[in-house]
Amino acid sequence: LDVNFAPYINFKGESRGVVVVLHDITDIRRLEKMRSDFVANVSHELRTPITSIKGFTETLLEGAMQDEETCRNFLQIISDESERLYRMIRDILDLSKIEQKRIPLHISQVHLQELIASTVAIINDQAQRKQLTIQLPGQESDISLMTDKDCLQQIVLNLLSNAVAYTPEGGSITILARHDEAEQQLKIQVIDTGIGIPEKDIPRIFERFYRVDKARSRDSGGTGLGLAIVKHLVENLHGQIRVESKEGRGTTFTVTLPLV
Ligand code: ADP
Repeated sequence: LDVNFAPYINFKGESRGVVVVLHDITDIRRLEKMRSDFVANVSHELRTPITSIKGFTETLLEGAMQDEETCRNFLQIISDESERLYRMIRDILDLSKIEQKRIPLHISQVHLQELIASTVAIINDQAQRKQLTIQLPGQESDISLMTDKDCLQQIVLNLLSNAVAYTPEGGSITILARHDEAEQQLKIQVIDTGIGIPEKDIPRIFERFYRVDKARSRDSGGTGLGLAIVKHLVENLHGQIRVESKEGRGTTFTVTLPLV
């Protein structure tokens, strides 16, 4: 609380008391704290892959290069970590642009089933490597809406990437799209049969850099920013996102977008 005092003097110059102005600065402080936490988090997150790249490079230079297999393993780690660093920087920049609403929306008519099919195509290789089945019921129906295509594709892609990353081999992923005439809204659901999210973590998963299991997220190449980006993109489209999950059973993300 910011407190200011001033004497209250009437038109005759007589002192009548004191004016106290109480200024609630909770919001300002909270924003400042969020910003400094963000910078601290970013620095920490960027340092992790760099430390590993540096460490493995030094070990190679110090002689580990003689053994071809070790050399190959280390180079693979260096390559993976550089990739992750690249993705992290891209996500941080995307997130800050999205948060500041610096990305203008390009509204056009979007055919939802087409958009879903082209998004699945991007991730299909990865899904096949884990023998995951991707089901798209109702793919023949034509649902269209006026929205920002790239924005919506990014939302579906991030949710789908997570479904692939957090579903063990042989599992299945279903993408449902439904037009709710009465509510004038559109519902997209990404349903997986994966590891699920513990109840206590659910409220925090949309925070930047929050992960239920850091090691697993890192192994899957995660940056911890995917869902923070999704949440902001959904809000930019005036929609809502919900999650239901059971540990060991699977997770369902539901995005609702207004049709008008
Ligand atoms: P990450 O890059 O770590 O995947 P996200 O922001 O996309 O970051 O997700 C945050 C965390 O939420 C993940 O680390 C993971 O613990 C959890 N999560 C997200 N999607 C799923 C899912 N479909 N199934 C299980 N856990 C999930």
